[in-house]
Amino acid sequence: MKYVCFSIADDDELHFGHLDGDEIKEISDPFNGEEIEEMGKKFKREDVILLSPCFPTKAVCIGLNYRDHAEEMKLALPTEPVVFMKPSTSLLDPEGEIIYPSLSKRVDYEAELAVVIGKECHDVEEKDAHDYILGYCCANDVTARDLQPKQGQWTVAKGFDTFMPLGPYISDEVDPSNLKIECRLNGVVKQKSNTSNLIFSVPYLVSYISKVMTLLPGDVILTGTSSGIGPMVSGDVVEVEIEGLGVLRNSVL
Ligand code: MG
Repeated sequence: MKYVCFSIADDDELHFGHLDGDEIKEISDPFNGEEIEEMGKKFKREDVILLSPCFPTKAVCIGLNYRDHAEEMKLALPTEPVVFMKPSTSLLDPEGEIIYPSLSKRVDYEAELAVVIGKECHDVEEKDAHDYILGYCCANDVTARDLQPKQGQWTVAKGFDTFMPLGPYISDEVDPSNLKIECRLNGVVKQKSNTSNLIFSVPYLVSYISKVMTLLPGDVILTGTSSGIGPMVSGDVVEVEIEGLGVLRNSVL
């Protein structure tokens, strides 16, 4: 199933749907803890505006988590996940514009697989993690690189408004342990890897984080980025593509 959230030009409401090819079937809110129902309406994808497919209360993000990236940087593999958070206000719709902050002179892309939580999740074991996941989507962990070393932690560098594009849809039809992941800047491939290079697997991360804090429906885990990170400038178009999860495309304002 591919889940989307969308609006229609002539109303201000949020709608949820199942994406099936070019068609969207409207469904009830998949995050409200109730059985998902079909609402009986159908739309063409081209007739709606796709919004962020979920509305996290928090995004829990992992630092160094790609083996190829750690090897390239000649860094020792971490023995525990490096965890930081992005605020809910950093969320950006697919096709939305990343706003270059006045405080930064270097803003980078980081293509990442996002895990979307479907059910409240606290203190779960790795083997049960799958039961709490609605699906997966593309994410861009946009980072003000020049502000990152200044503070010793990353809240400012990672937390600007528009610094968390998600989408275009959530899918539960993929195996998160083996997905090609790529980032393109103005059509040029900058990052290319596979989630098989993840140091900490998706079930491990869900379990680990759920032992720290309760994950709520719609919360996301950003699983880290591979090698090839680099800067963006105003006017650039950045694309994150993950096998089976479509293309997340944003421009920089
Ligand atoms: Mg990152």
